[in-house]
Amino acid sequence: MLRDYDVIVVGAGFYGATIAERTAAVLGRKVCVLERRHHIGGNSYSEIDTATGIEHHKYGSHLFHTNSEEVWRYLHRFTTFTNYRHRVLTVHQGQVYPMPINLGTICAFFGRYMTPSEARELIRQQASAEKIGHAENLEDKAISLIGRPLYEAFIRGYTKKQWQTDPRQLPASIIARLPVRFHFEPYYFTDKYEGLPTDGYTAVFRRMLDSSLIDIHLGVDFFDVREKIGPHQLVVYTGPIDRYFDYRLGELAWRTLDFEREALATDDYQGAAVINYADEDVPYTRIHEFKHLHPERRYPPGRTLICREYSRFARRSDEPYYPVNTVRDRQLFAAYQRLAGRQRNVLFGGRLGSYQYLDMHQAIGAALSDFRKKVMPFWARARECVAT
Ligand code: FAD
Ligand code: UDP
Repeated sequence: MLRDYDVIVVGAGFYGATIAERTAAVLGRKVCVLERRHHIGGNSYSEIDTATGIEHHKYGSHLFHTNSEEVWRYLHRFTTFTNYRHRVLTVHQGQVYPMPINLGTICAFFGRYMTPSEARELIRQQASAEKIGHAENLEDKAISLIGRPLYEAFIRGYTKKQWQTDPRQLPASIIARLPVRFHFEPYYFTDKYEGLPTDGYTAVFRRMLDSSLIDIHLGVDFFDVREKIGPHQLVVYTGPIDRYFDYRLGELAWRTLDFEREALATDDYQGAAVINYADEDVPYTRIHEFKHLHPERRYPPGRTLICREYSRFARRSDEPYYPVNTVRDRQLFAAYQRLAGRQRNVLFGGRLGSYQYLDMHQAIGAALSDFRKKVMPFWARARECVAT
């Protein structure tokens, strides 16, 4: 019976799993996790591919990195981490370059060795030639950081494939994820902590949700059971916020992805975990080769598993992955947030519920903070009501 639970968590991704775990462990309250898919883990889910024996990330490579001491310590309750450090390469017109753009990319692209200060000066000249004042959109931001030639080679085509939205309509924050570097350091992330869960992501979720106070119902859509939930239960909703309100103010734009997996009879297909394809005439954005995520493992030789990633606009029936976040989307989201604020017993969170481009550590950090600031006070208020 759904009414037997104190908290109903909708979605078994990192946000929902963190709230469920904390609610059971700290408050000793009964939690029901409803998950539409047939597995826990949300988009961070990983599984062993039966054909190759290789663990793959079903929704694209998920690299864990964080600067948050709190999130790193919290996850260590459920897993150790390997010392994997992520590198990405990008292919442009048949040549391969380091990504994010670093001194290696700049030297290779302009065809000569430059010192850091020479490269900095070249990029400064190219960026200032465009006379961009305050950069408010992705294109202006990128050009003000790297100049037009590098933008056109490595950012414009990839971004058009990824977002199918004029880069001038996209928020500058997207590109702020990829700062240009004037050294040869090849790593994608610069966070204090980085690594992959030693036994994979799904094992982490299993341990987080392993409590006699937590029940998990897979293959259940919240909207099919919501009328069975009582007014004194807390709902933690991590699905798309516009769907919760039956799209009554309009639809928020999301990008979805198609993943084309292929098992191949070779040891090594591309020599790296992720290679991006910068040019518009290549239909996919990137290729993942999962065995490179775990060089410490002994995978069977002579086989590999790759996955090509294609991006497109999400229809209602698709999985929403990336909030597009145009100016119109942001206004619409603000209106949905006002509606959400009036729901006394519902907490909206996670990437879909807060319409934010959250990485895993940010989803966990937000859940830890919301647990303290919203879930604990909710039950403290409930106790006061009972007492008076
Ligand atoms: P999710 O993981 O999306 O979980 C939400 C869950 O809610 C889903 O399982 C969904 O099925 C369920 N749900 C929705 N509606 C309903 C409903 N009505 N009823 C029941 N269940 C419902 N982050 C990183 O830190 N590093 C990376 O390298 C990285 N790579 C990524 C690559 C891709 C392609 C994508 C899409 C994301 C990537 N992320 C990465 C982000 C990461 O996936 C998110 O930070 C994380 O999944 C957020 O967790 P969440 O709980 O908010 O959402
Ligand atoms: N990007 C790009 N070229 C690349 C990689 C990224 O233009 O080779 C841009 C693109 O707009 C993308 C954004 O930078 O959406 C953020 O990239 P990131 O790798 O962080 O995206 P994610 O892994 O979340 O898809």
